[in-house]
Amino acid sequence: QAIKCKAAVAWAAGEPLKIEEVEVASPQAMEVRIKIHYTALCHTDLYFWEAKGQTPLFPRILGHEAAGVVESVGEGVTDLKEGDTVLPVFTGECGECRHCKSEESNMCDLLRINTDRGVMISDGKSRFSINGKPIYHFVGTSTFSEYTVTHVGSLAKINPEAPLDKVCILSCGVSTGMGATLNVAKPKKGSSVAIFGLGGVGLAAAEGARIAGASRIIGIDLNSDRFEKAKLFGVTEFINPLDYKKPIQEVIAEKTDGGVDCSIECTGNVKAMIQAFESCHDGWGVAVLVGVPHSDAVFATSPVNFLNERTLKGTFFGNYKPRTDLPGLVELYMDKKLELEKFITHEVSFADINKAFDYMIKGESLRCVINVIGN
Ligand code: NAD
Ligand code: ZN
Repeated sequence: QAIKCKAAVAWAAGEPLKIEEVEVASPQAMEVRIKIHYTALCHTDLYFWEAKGQTPLFPRILGHEAAGVVESVGEGVTDLKEGDTVLPVFTGECGECRHCKSEESNMCDLLRINTDRGVMISDGKSRFSINGKPIYHFVGTSTFSEYTVTHVGSLAKINPEAPLDKVCILSCGVSTGMGATLNVAKPKKGSSVAIFGLGGVGLAAAEGARIAGASRIIGIDLNSDRFEKAKLFGVTEFINPLDYKKPIQEVIAEKTDGGVDCSIECTGNVKAMIQAFESCHDGWGVAVLVGVPHSDAVFATSPVNFLNERTLKGTFFGNYKPRTDLPGLVELYMDKKLELEKFITHEVSFADINKAFDYMIKGESLRCVINVIGN
């Protein structure tokens, strides 16, 4: 049976979302319909809402960082049942493919991130409609809605005691940043780590560096307002590239006797990606790209930077396998070993969802949690 509920619909690029009554169809085979309790805004939502330089896909229901409860399940779903507490994830885990079976990868063949697809995989149709007119999905999650339908492999079942207004941010940003450091860059104890971009993702990467025992964590951001907050995440030094005339790679090399051991890029700006790579020390430096670049961006650097034994990597969702690894991250929070509160700078009602966009555009927020259940 279809459910009528409220959803925040993006009708066109850059236009404020509108709360509309939508119809959410029942879940088909291997699909699950969930009631969203809390969702948060990540820069990736903002990016696909602005849709600059992209083939725009509208009307669309954005949102991918969230927590909710299973309302009903489709045919063939045995792993989840009504009432289970779940985190939806933009890059799923089917459990069967080469990637899911590989220890290295979380790039599931079936459910990996696909920002161009606005429909369900099984039948190429949307489960959202207004007066019979389909509304597109976003990265298999579309969490800016009271109810949404996802593939079962895009949902991690978590501890039902977990406070959903906090753990919702593990569904993307915090896990992505922490994993980029801990699972991909893997800094050794005592090493130096540069973090480019001190938003929610970058500060989670800094948190990862702190946990790994890095001795210097250098934060780089164009917005100096980020620096005060970043101290709470173990960032020890700050660089605003706007304060220097010379390339930031040179500034970092001078400060670190040739370059940092690791750098993590969390901006989405291709210039910062190149800077992050070229800021690494030769011989052993590792750079990890996390930001989502513009579709026409080109990474240009001298091949000699590679010959000189620097490594460049990239990651989605911090290389975590969502269904396998997210429940453990939730437990880290429950055991008070991971602090999520400090990432949550704002909270708004569902009706005020556009405020979350404003806070992020102005660079005021790390994470703004949107209360969907309280309306
Ligand atoms: P955010 O907007 O909160 O933070 C980005 C920060 O980068 C801001 O503080 C901004 O001032 C800074 N910045 C921008 N350009 C810069 C530059 N040239 N040099 C230095 N600093 C610069 O965004 P967020 O939610 O933290 O997301 C960060 C990036 O990570 C986005 O590109 C987002 O799309 C991406 N992302 C990727 C994944 C993944 O799995 N790979 C997951 C989530 C988010
Ligand atoms: Zn995200």
